[in-house]
Amino acid sequence: MNLKHLLLLLSVSYVSPFVVLNRERSRTSTFTLRSSTKLPPVKNETKTSIDDNLLSSPSGKLDFQEPSFPQSLETTKVKSGRKELWFDENSGRFYEAGGNEKIPIATLFERTLDTIEDAAIHARRIPYDKGWIDPPELEQMSRKTVVVLGSGWASHALMKVADTYKIRLIVVSPTNHFVFTPMLASASVGTIEYRSMTEAVRASNPLMDNYIEGKAIDVDVENKLLTVQLKDLLKDTRKGEAPIQQIPYDHLVVAVGCRVANTIVPGAKEYSYKLKTCEDARKLRLAVGECLEYASRPNVAPDKFLPEAIALAREQDRRKRLTWVIVGGGPTGVELAGELSDFVRDITRDRVGPYHRLLGEIQIILVHGGDRLVQAFEEELSTHALSSLEKQGVQVRLNTRVKEVGDGWIRLISKDSGDEEEIPISLSVWAAGIAPVPFIETLLSKLPPEARGANGRVSVDKWLRCPTYSPETFGSILVVGDAAAFTRNDDESDLLPQTAQVAGQQGAYVARMLDRGYDLSITPPVIPSHHKHEVLVDAWLRARGLQEAAGFSFLNLGLLAYLGQGQALSQVQLGDVPLFSYAGSVSFILWRSVYLVKQVATRNRVLVLFDWFKCKIFGRDITRF
Ligand SMILES: Cc1cc2nc3c(=O)[nH]c(=O)nc-3n(C[C@H](O)[C@H](O)[C@H](O)COP(=O)(O)OP(=O)(O)OC[C@H]3O[C@@H](n4cnc5c(N)ncnc54)[C@H](O)[C@@H]3O)c2cc1C
Repeated sequence: MNLKHLLLLLSVSYVSPFVVLNRERSRTSTFTLRSSTKLPPVKNETKTSIDDNLLSSPSGKLDFQEPSFPQSLETTKVKSGRKELWFDENSGRFYEAGGNEKIPIATLFERTLDTIEDAAIHARRIPYDKGWIDPPELEQMSRKTVVVLGSGWASHALMKVADTYKIRLIVVSPTNHFVFTPMLASASVGTIEYRSMTEAVRASNPLMDNYIEGKAIDVDVENKLLTVQLKDLLKDTRKGEAPIQQIPYDHLVVAVGCRVANTIVPGAKEYSYKLKTCEDARKLRLAVGECLEYASRPNVAPDKFLPEAIALAREQDRRKRLTWVIVGGGPTGVELAGELSDFVRDITRDRVGPYHRLLGEIQIILVHGGDRLVQAFEEELSTHALSSLEKQGVQVRLNTRVKEVGDGWIRLISKDSGDEEEIPISLSVWAAGIAPVPFIETLLSKLPPEARGANGRVSVDKWLRCPTYSPETFGSILVVGDAAAFTRNDDESDLLPQTAQVAGQQGAYVARMLDRGYDLSITPPVIPSHHKHEVLVDAWLRARGLQEAAGFSFLNLGLLAYLGQGQALSQVQLGDVPLFSYAGSVSFILWRSVYLVKQVATRNRVLVLFDWFKCKIFGRDITRF
């Protein structure tokens, strides 16, 4: 059992008593959070919006308090967005009134048991891994071939949970590693190094049957045959066309994610950087470094002895090199703006920063089409994000769209006034929107029309299966993560978001279904009577009532986003129940703690921690390769 499983078990043991304690009350599988909270008498009920100044404490933290309610008469009921809050005039704090949201007790309980099951699978491998006993001869075991496309969040979770003694696992991906995407912004400015937040596919599950470096380009659904274009490696490159390989499968798990939607606005694809892979982060870091060096050249640096016209031309050139635009005010754009502004502060520190001569000259502009940043967060947190970035010197343009991007310029248009503005820039990063990858279009062309889900994603049922033309192939293709359109409660508008959290949970869910050997061609999937499990596993599944597969249920744990300067946003929830929301340095500690724990291996945790210390003590590394 490795450290990750120890941590998982610790968290399980933390959650378990809570679950047990509330079991009696949760016969209907849910109970209302804070339903027992005694609300104070209402002195004066108003339905006004909360004044932002009132909400912000000097620390910058929003004073939403969860703990026991003070029995004060000096309370006022106010409304904030969809929440009702109580304002205690004595303490000057807000308290949430008891809502009707339900804690998903059943899901929590099942997840706890799933975690124990995952840990047991890993523990079972230890004697083989350590060489204490000979592993079973895998080739002689009858295992279904599961081909997984991608090495991102969904497929990584699947690889970790998959029991290779039960399934023959083959992974196909053009990227030979997993990337911890929430840290790409940090990597693009050198706060952490690329290798600290990646894990090689083969290291994720060394017992997998094979990893194939290439990308899926076609699929024969009826004959269960995948066509893969292998990546150019060594001699292939000299022969021209990369080789094609056909791979038969019993189950195909499509976890190909999505791409940055940079083809809608003219010039965005050609002239803007993006942030989706380590390669993107590396290119961005190089470009930032080049801008800084260019602006520091003697023929661009300020010189008071130059004639006015030449000095002005120089200044314009320098300003252009030092104006960087980020397009998109979602979490990626906001986090990148925060990281870039940390980077700029670090390298231009007065007299000691390596680029101190550029102090005050670098301009970061964040362009956002909506009227508030990070819209997935509560409104108060969005407001805090805006003021925090502006305080750091980031110019935030709300209600502004990009009309065109060119070589050295960007054209913006205000949604309010319709005014257009062309800004000379040397660097823009496109972080606005995502779109399906080309393989999804190919797959959809082989599936019935009802497979086409919202936003070009593949529509899936409760068990993450996509529709096929013939009943014989139904259940052979599962789609997970960003590529899947999974709706909750059969409500077309209640689509799960495209996040790492959803992708990871779906990947692990599919791995468990495959490990348990459900017949996925029938609804609901059941474990066939001829399927032989070990006695203990069989007893465990029976005790949990898992002879029939339960549909996927998403456990939302909330949102986190870094803002720069040691500030972050956190909106922690359990299912649909908001637990607490903070903005400021407390959230920053939470952000760092969660990201450290969520690293996929102990090696990554150590490296990330080391990078943070290194950056704090020695500053960011500005070498370029
Ligand atoms: C900068 C950034 C920050 C983010 N921050 C957060 C965050 O803080 N919290 C959060 O919840 N989410 C965050 N996300 C979103 C999150 O990363 C995605 O939702 C998640 O990666 C989706 O997982 P996935 O497995 O579906 O796809 P991905 O992780 O994108 O993986 C897709 C994989 O498929 C491979 N692939 C593509 N085409 C093919 C093909 N034809 N054949 C085979 N393989 C293929 C790719 O190489 C890749 O390995 C962030 C995303 C970005 C870009």
